[in-house]
Amino acid sequence: MTLLCVTCDPGVPGVRPCTVRGEHRDGCESDSCGGCMPREARIGCLCQVCWLRYEQAWSTWALLEPYLDRFDRLSPRETVGGRTTPTGYVPLPQTTLAADEVRSWLTGAPDDARAWVSTLDGAAKAVQFSFAVQRAARAHQIQEQNTRLHRMHCPACARLLLVRIPPAAFLDDVTVKCTHCGWTQNDPSKIDEIAAIEAMPWKEKTA
Ligand SMILES: [Zn+2]
Ligand SMILES: [Zn+2]
Ligand SMILES: [Zn+2]
Repeated sequence: MTLLCVTCDPGVPGVRPCTVRGEHRDGCESDSCGGCMPREARIGCLCQVCWLRYEQAWSTWALLEPYLDRFDRLSPRETVGGRTTPTGYVPLPQTTLAADEVRSWLTGAPDDARAWVSTLDGAAKAVQFSFAVQRAARAHQIQEQNTRLHRMHCPACARLLLVRIPPAAFLDDVTVKCTHCGWTQNDPSKIDEIAAIEAMPWKEKTA
């Protein structure tokens, strides 16, 4: 008996079973079926498609994870009159939630990727990981809007009118721009310095 992709047998919650386009099981009579033949497992318990998606997810994640962490430091907090809300509750940006979900699928995963997908349980988690990375990359792009900076004054005109402009696409640079005089900065190391200024507690600033 051939081993099928874990998405077909036993299946992965929320994930469509992998099928071969244009090929059908015996007895398939649906005219609208684009292909219902389950894909065979090729690498561990994953089919070729799932394995490639998984490898792609790792390389995306290697770039996305540090990037999301940096984004998080310059993202707006829910504030009331310059303070966090009285309960101390700080809503998490969607990107943080998405990144946490990705990390949750990696819990307990061995370093050896092939070893991980050689078990049904590991392969199912690897599939979930792959899709979670895709969602995190998308959430990042949907989430971001221009945000006003609250600490840093424009180096050119000294007005408190800087905005952070998110990257147009994943891995593009963040830009900080003055809405008054047009001064712009998009050097990543300078953006990190601006992020550090924005992250300073209010007390230190006024002391
Ligand atoms: Zn079919
Ligand atoms: Zn598959
Ligand atoms: Zn300015």
